[in-house]
Amino acid sequence: MSKKVEIIWTCQNCGDRYGLTLYRSIWGELPENRSIVMNDTINTTTCPNCGVTSKIPYPFLYTHKNPDFAVWWEPIYDKSIDEEKKRYGNLPGIPDYLTNAPRIEDWEEFKRTILKLETEPKKTARP
Ligand SMILES: [Zn+2]
Repeated sequence: MSKKVEIIWTCQNCGDRYGLTLYRSIWGELPENRSIVMNDTINTTTCPNCGVTSKIPYPFLYTHKNPDFAVWWEPIYDKSIDEEKKRYGNLPGIPDYLTNAPRIEDWEEFKRTILKLETEPKKTARP
């Protein structure tokens, strides 16, 4: 499941505070999910008071099945990602691609990385 969190957002333009729901992780193999990433609307909000749209710098994990990969967008350092990785490390059956998901700060580079990984041929077993 894609994971979502509720936050209280303070509009950077007018200071209005309101609740909204953000993605913490998203399943990229679903076309509707992929499209909100590629058209830059994921984790954006339009202020009900002043109408200004903001992109929330909230780190989230993009996962994809077949090919299997995962990528973090991490615009600001998030130590809970370190903790999550540590927790994964202790769990059986967590695949490497999840534990070793790259953490990318730049939004455009994040999208380029997804496009690249989508087309990467499945890794075959090492000789
Ligand atoms: Zn506002």
